[in-house]
Amino acid sequence: MSLDGRTCLVTGASKGIGRGIAEELGSEGANVVVNYRSSESAAYEVRDVIDEGPGEAIVAQADVSNFEEVQSMCQTSRAAFGSVDVLVNNAGITVDKKFENMTREDWERVVDVNLGGVYNCTKTCFEDIRSAEEGRLINISSVVGQQGNYGQANYATTKSGLFGFTRTVALELASEGSTANCVAPGFVKTDMLAEVPDRVKEGILERIPLDRFAEVEDISGIVRFVASEESSYMTGQILGVNGGMEW
Ligand code: NAP
Repeated sequence: MSLDGRTCLVTGASKGIGRGIAEELGSEGANVVVNYRSSESAAYEVRDVIDEGPGEAIVAQADVSNFEEVQSMCQTSRAAFGSVDVLVNNAGITVDKKFENMTREDWERVVDVNLGGVYNCTKTCFEDIRSAEEGRLINISSVVGQQGNYGQANYATTKSGLFGFTRTVALELASEGSTANCVAPGFVKTDMLAEVPDRVKEGILERIPLDRFAEVEDISGIVRFVASEESSYMTGQILGVNGGMEW
């Protein structure tokens, strides 16, 4: 499953799931572009971890919701490692509120990052992925996009939106042998979950048959598989990695 020499751009790779994915791909020999928005020192730590192993890494700051910043990130990436073979659209945010209290601004902030960011990054790297030998587009969605979740109308909408996007782009990439898939994690132990009140977390845990929240490694291992040549015949799929939560 080696990713030796493959160039992988991971958005939101300074922390949480994105960090886990970046380090996992690096451990398989990939050239990894570690994108971050504001956590600069954390992003350099990720780079250093990758550089200690078989992979190589660079850090590239960009707010994925800003098209010009994304274009400049991709230029930096190409200058270091050539064209992008694997894009992991991982960066995402939540602004949780009951819908009755959700302002237009709360809605737009989440849509701009979680969907606008995916547009910006995919648009900028699309030709690279299509012309790569077995290019990979991997979008990180959520079980919340499948089930909905109280207080997350904005977030759930963006995560469902990725399903239609992924399936469509999968069709448009297929003739060149490149693939697009979604990984839809359940609830993962990161800063994002830490923001959820304890009583809400207890309620969520009761709905997880495997009776635990996911570790970052539960997700990053699946992404490594999707990035690898072992997944060549899989495209347009939604991989639920959620401890058996029904949806
Ligand atoms: P996290 O710990 O909050 O980390 C978010 C990462 O995204 C950080 O590296 C952050 O970078 C980056 N980011 C945020 N806004 C950005 C922007 N505008 N431009 C570039 N980078 C940006 O979140 P996480 O839990 O790892 O979540 C990662 C992804 O998995 C998200 O798409 C999330 O929706 C999805 N997910 C999470 C869970 C969960 O339970 N945790 C479950 C299902 C799906 P900076 O810190 O540098 O700003």
